[in-house]
Amino acid sequence: MSKQKKWNVATAKQHYRVNNWSAGHFDINSKGNAVVKIQNSELDLHALSNTLKNQGITLPTLVRFPQILQQSLNNLCAAFEQVIQTYNYAGEFVAAYPIKVNQQATVIQHFQQQTEWPMAFEVGSKAELIACYGTTHQPLSIICNGYKDESYIRLALLGHFLGHQVTIVLESLTEYKFVVKQCTQLNIKVHLGMRVRLSSIAKGNWQNTGGEYSKFGLSSNEVLSLISDLKENNAIDSMKMLHFHMGSQIPRLKDIQSGVTEAMHYFTELSKIGVKLEQLNIGGGLAVDYEGGTSDRYFSMDYSLQDYADTIINTVKKSCDRHSLSVPDIFSENGRAMTAYHAVLLTNVIDVELKNIDSKNENEEFLESEFLNESLNKLIRLANKIKSSLQCPKNSESINEIYPKFEKAIEDIAQQFLCGEFALADKAMAEKISSYCYRELLDVKDYLDEEKKLAVQEKLVAKYFCNFSLFQSTPDIWGLQQIFPIMPVHRLHERPEVKVRIYDLTCDSDGRIDRYVQNGGIKPYLSLHELQPHQEYVLGIFLVGAYQEILGDMHNLFGDTNAVNIVMNEDGSHQICDEEPGDTVAEILSYLHIDTGRMRQLWLERLTQQDVAAEVKKFVLEDLESSLRANSYLA
Ligand code: PLP
Repeated sequence: MSKQKKWNVATAKQHYRVNNWSAGHFDINSKGNAVVKIQNSELDLHALSNTLKNQGITLPTLVRFPQILQQSLNNLCAAFEQVIQTYNYAGEFVAAYPIKVNQQATVIQHFQQQTEWPMAFEVGSKAELIACYGTTHQPLSIICNGYKDESYIRLALLGHFLGHQVTIVLESLTEYKFVVKQCTQLNIKVHLGMRVRLSSIAKGNWQNTGGEYSKFGLSSNEVLSLISDLKENNAIDSMKMLHFHMGSQIPRLKDIQSGVTEAMHYFTELSKIGVKLEQLNIGGGLAVDYEGGTSDRYFSMDYSLQDYADTIINTVKKSCDRHSLSVPDIFSENGRAMTAYHAVLLTNVIDVELKNIDSKNENEEFLESEFLNESLNKLIRLANKIKSSLQCPKNSESINEIYPKFEKAIEDIAQQFLCGEFALADKAMAEKISSYCYRELLDVKDYLDEEKKLAVQEKLVAKYFCNFSLFQSTPDIWGLQQIFPIMPVHRLHERPEVKVRIYDLTCDSDGRIDRYVQNGGIKPYLSLHELQPHQEYVLGIFLVGAYQEILGDMHNLFGDTNAVNIVMNEDGSHQICDEEPGDTVAEILSYLHIDTGRMRQLWLERLTQQDVAAEVKKFVLEDLESSLRANSYLA
């Protein structure tokens, strides 16, 4: 057996790859607790979860750190600023926040109120546009994307009267007709952009966003028709922005480079026919390294922020220099990179199933008997062979030969039980024997070849049931097999001995997590600690600030979790702000148009029909009432 390395906080950091995915925002302190790092201070997430609990904010709770939004914005803008200076680039960089990524008021307001960098906001619908208008006194720069009807275009033009700079990015020729009509009615000039459909495709989960068959963008023919319409209307000067978006979470830098190169070809060709574009909007796509692998896998990225900025500015500049054109201002819509890090879901383990794990008895002996079922005797013979083979590997049949026979014997027993030919007590004994063997085999797994080793590991994966809904809090795990880093927020100085698969509260077999960030790559299980009696075990699911909150749904009627914003003060203390209690059951039912007033009436009528005693009626009604007021998660 290989000797295990000593476990300490440094090993824990390596094990959960904290430094690889945290981008410096999270770490583990000397007590073995996870911390968030903000402005030279650290906040202990385990202590925070206790403070929240003492204030009645129970788990699961989504904890947001608005200052991380600013740090992420600073990182993005500073990377471009540096490259702009290096290349003496004459244009500016503007980070546009695509509000679809997270439309929570705190997020939009934070970006609207910050003054460190010039910013714009990208919206994709009428509701998003109204949300954007209604959250600040500041004049805003707003980019309107998405399919537009006439009322969307009118709403965008009304921004002019509110003092905002609104750019309407045309996605179709029909939209331009609405623009002309509404501009005439309102008597205002418009600022236009056009979204082009690139042939370049970026490898990744969102690759269908790009390419010839993508949903959005004008084809070359449509671009030329639009230009001729603009010229006819004497409005060519209103076309300022060229936009493309190749997809979210682009893992390969070379794909981004191809997209920018192709877009610059449009840019230079358009300038030849008299379109003086001033802005290049490169859309989103900047990835987040959820895996911490710096690779071109879908949930990683093979480039740094600096590489990203460098590639874009360099490609645009070279192309403009070659054609003696002024460089455009660069807009990017990188919402994922701006928001992913700022939110962590804290959840607690509410139950465990240690199948095959808790049954080990050092001196286990299995004896054949004429009174036992023949299949069970066969299993016992194989188990004893495994034992002797492990004790004396040289003299016995190889483990790799016995293991498939052992698996087959277990399968036969399951089949016989299914057909009613195997007693329940015998099945229980067979399970005990197989558990024992799996444990033994795992301890000496060096004897097994790789495939069998994985199969044995799989048998010994424990189930940890956690107090959250995957569909509500991390829907992309379900929809896209997304990977988020997960680790306990305490006990990290102790070796995590149990290999675990996490299950949520929903009655759905999809409500589980199959891929985890761990040392050595992505693993089908996560190493966690054995639970201790009367001690809550708290996990953090990190980097959930982009898309998850808005895409979450109410499967099994688990609603929004509690949420809080945490602001760190300069002296290292912190404030819990904007506490948002999770949805109550009554609120969830009201979303479904279930009338809780009528429901109360029905309960009363039924209790009267059942003729229960007055005091029973009272407590039943009170209990039902408090269930309506409670949130949907486990207490
Ligand atoms: N811009 C547009 C037009 C989008 O459709 C999206 C989302 O896919 C984004 C920006 C956000 O991109 P990202 O997720 O890379 O931040």
